Amino acid sequence: MSDEDVRTRLAALRVQYAERLGNDLQTLIAQARELAARQRSVEPAALETLRQGLHRIAGSAGTFGYPALGQEAREMELWVQTVLETAVAPTAPMLSALGDRLCDSYRRLDTQAPTLAEPNAGYPPGGEERPIRVGVMGADACGALEQALSGFGYACRRSATPDEWREWQPDVAVIDTASLSAASWQACTAVVPGARRILLSADGSFDARLQAVRDGADGFFTHPVDVPALERRLRHLVSQPQQDPYRVLIVDDDTELAEHFRLTLKAAAGIESRVIEHPSDVLRGLREFVPDLVLIDINMPGCSGPELARLIRFDDDWLRIPLIYLSAESDAQRQAQALAQAGDDFLVKPISDVALTAAVTARAQRSRQLSQALARDGLTGLIKHPAIKELIEIEQSRTQRSGAEACVVMIDIDCFKSINDTYGHGTGDYVIRLLANLLRQRLRRVDHIGRYGGEEFVAVLPACSLDNAREAIERIRESFAQLECVAGEAVFHVTFSAGVASTLDWTDAGALLEAADRAMYEAKQGGRNQVRVARDATPQT
Ligand code: GH3
Ligand code: MG
Ligand code: MG
Repeated sequence: MSDEDVRTRLAALRVQYAERLGNDLQTLIAQARELAARQRSVEPAALETLRQGLHRIAGSAGTFGYPALGQEAREMELWVQTVLETAVAPTAPMLSALGDRLCDSYRRLDTQAPTLAEPNAGYPPGGEERPIRVGVMGADACGALEQALSGFGYACRRSATPDEWREWQPDVAVIDTASLSAASWQACTAVVPGARRILLSADGSFDARLQAVRDGADGFFTHPVDVPALERRLRHLVSQPQQDPYRVLIVDDDTELAEHFRLTLKAAAGIESRVIEHPSDVLRGLREFVPDLVLIDINMPGCSGPELARLIRFDDDWLRIPLIYLSAESDAQRQAQALAQAGDDFLVKPISDVALTAAVTARAQRSRQLSQALARDGLTGLIKHPAIKELIEIEQSRTQRSGAEACVVMIDIDCFKSINDTYGHGTGDYVIRLLANLLRQRLRRVDHIGRYGGEEFVAVLPACSLDNAREAIERIRESFAQLECVAGEAVFHVTFSAGVASTLDWTDAGALLEAADRAMYEAKQGGRNQVRVARDATPQT
């Protein structure tokens, strides 16, 4: 890795971290509020979750340029820790004071790191900083694909041969096999060596897919192309390197070996590991490090691997974490016995570095996908209803504090029922995903997008004026209306109506959302396929 690479990576991590920090604080606020609202007493497990969250911020915020916030989180963590240790039940006012303090920290985020949410930053037509470059190579049918991907905000170019990409260097090459000779595939690999490659084919047979795998393709789609699925694949392919590194907890009394595993995982895949030498330290390790996966030795003094795995599973918080035995135990029956007790898989020592890295990476990836899926809407991957409402409240109170304007947008697909009725529920779902992906692609990184109901979406746009919000949504409306939706042989167009409201005009989050909803309703009444701004209603002061 060159210095430049490391710098780029660090910068990407910092951006990633800022995003995570915002999300983590929101989660903590919601947890604190939920506890404060409870009638019955607060159980230690819930407080412990809160403490972990605070600890995570306390231990990381300073490193990423938020030292004051890190210090505050540490103080709050110590408070929760004291409550836990003395077993004095915290009262509702104490907990809501904690919630308020967290809210304050969240609000100060943008003043502490002003580069992350530029006030009234414009929305570039292509979405984020540098649009992702997608080269499309293929017959006429690919013209529609080029148009659709451009509509999503990708910089898209269609060409007849890979030579045309020599200068431009796309991030992803989408290639129709109909236009592909073995020579041009090789040329493509040579001309754009760094690009990920997706193949389109009329033949969806097993053999055709296998051939694509052998040709080194990163994706495979059949005609007619499912555009939302292709777009999602594109996003996955190009966003992978920006992920937070996976985290692995290694429990092994052989410290030298454990250290070797740690360094191997770090060097081969950038995976962060922490080594736990004594099994009794494992719960603390889990809390502090919050790993994606745990590697456990089978034979350790005082406590066996399977015992430790069962002990970990006592705690609901760690139910979803894969526990992988890493042991010299090669007896298949004993391995099976260990797995029958607890644990998810067995890796046998000695293990090659390559095998270890591959096994750990695949498991950690699944684990992370799972935990992300729990907080997100299954169909679209967008934020679920309650969480997006909480975000509106946070932006609203930020405005009360600092005067910074934020906007809330309510979006509803037009005549959606008739899409379901005409083309079937599956196509309806496809249209919902299409719009979700378009919003994700075209809004800024700092914006929050939620699925509010069936075909209703809510976007929360921090640090954004009403005019900017209206213009951005207007551009997305135009793009959406132009997208070609495919259902079997049929091609059709869909539109949406939207209402925009500003936090400057309403002091209450509920009223703000209602205002956006009313404006959206006016857009429906006005003939649909339009964006209305909630200005006409009498603002409260
Ligand atoms: P309008 O232009 O006034 O918004 O009309 P509309 O037909 O879009 O609105 P309406 O609220 O009458 O219909 C929404 C339909 O969306 C009804 C419901 O069956 C359908 N729906 C809700 N959730 C889903 C979903 O997840 N998938 C699919 N395919 N349809 C859904
Ligand atoms: Mg509706
Ligand atoms: Mg509708």
